[in-house]
Amino acid sequence: MSTKDYLEKDYYAVLGVPKSATADEIKKAYRKLARQYHPDTNQGDSAKETKFKEVSEAYDILSDSKRRKEYDEARTLFGSGVGGQRPGGGGFPFDFGDLFGGTAGPQGGHGAGDRIGDLFGGLFNRGGSTRTSGTTRPRRGQDVESEVTLTFTEAVEGSTVSLRLTSSAACAACTGTGAKAGTTPRVCPTCEGTGAASRNLGNFAFSEPCRDCKGRGLLVDDPCPVCEGSGRAKSTRTIQARIPAGVADGQRVKLKGKGAPGENGGPAGDLYIQTNVKPHAVFGRMGDNLTIVVPVTFTEAALGAEIKVPTLKGMPVTLRIPPGTPNGRTFRVRGRGVAHKDGTKGDLLASVEVVVPKTLDDKSRELLSEFNTATAGDDPRADLILRARSE
Ligand SMILES: [Zn+2]
Ligand SMILES: [Zn+2]
Repeated sequence: MSTKDYLEKDYYAVLGVPKSATADEIKKAYRKLARQYHPDTNQGDSAKETKFKEVSEAYDILSDSKRRKEYDEARTLFGSGVGGQRPGGGGFPFDFGDLFGGTAGPQGGHGAGDRIGDLFGGLFNRGGSTRTSGTTRPRRGQDVESEVTLTFTEAVEGSTVSLRLTSSAACAACTGTGAKAGTTPRVCPTCEGTGAASRNLGNFAFSEPCRDCKGRGLLVDDPCPVCEGSGRAKSTRTIQARIPAGVADGQRVKLKGKGAPGENGGPAGDLYIQTNVKPHAVFGRMGDNLTIVVPVTFTEAALGAEIKVPTLKGMPVTLRIPPGTPNGRTFRVRGRGVAHKDGTKGDLLASVEVVVPKTLDDKSRELLSEFNTATAGDDPRADLILRARSE
């Protein structure tokens, strides 16, 4: 049984039971229908035979509690049968970050002025000590955190963004020593360069940062005027960062080696970019699948129709709606979802939403009244009251 079948088939409707039906009710409904449509009693009636197969298939799934659970979950996930997603509503009522491994981020927390490339490079010290050591051993550059807001399409297709990054680097004037150019820091005599002092309190010995050099191990007599002796400077640079195709809202993208440059031949830090993705007016995302809610008229759903459905990029596709399509049914358009570099492609999941006309002209009202009379025998609530009482 494929996901597609799960999405397109309403087994509850086939058996005429509510979603909340008990195993017993399902069995009863199945037996009644199976008798009604059984090929032995309907020889040569292919419509009834088809119906019998549908009923059997529905019973296969719904009578097996494990498969029924799977089926329910798949349909809940895809919003089938309940009208699905609203156009422009910006998504399903749960957090995709949780489902697809991304970190959920703040939704829509960015102002209208956000544009691609209009970014703020954050400066964070990710666990690194800001203490300047007087030695010249290689130091790995800091990791840098930044943030980018992408349009829905940019997130789907990947995008190159310009990022202005501010990070802490060695002061250029004193090459990070903190001592005025031409002078060098001297080893702190109190701690002999260790930066630590031990204090004896009776039987206990405490180690604490040396008070004279504040733990640096070095003393600067003549501080560098540029960095006021700190040895650190802020450096701002602009880099081009490639955000891969298919990032989700709230996802953190790691770009190795794109953080602050290392010192004394040390490796560069990494750059972490938090991606915020703006919702699309029409499309939603479910992992690599795109979703869309397509309004159809009652007559299109009842009689069947060929309708045009937009795709994110490229020409609209023609979707064939079979006669008797229920509201909320989801159709899969293969390969029109999120495309990755490795050639994998998601699908476009189009859910139909039956639209009821708000007003009717005389002619339409007349025809619908006629339709109503012609179908007076089909009461969709025929056994609803009975079923409501059966528990
Ligand atoms: Zn000291
Ligand atoms: Zn300096």
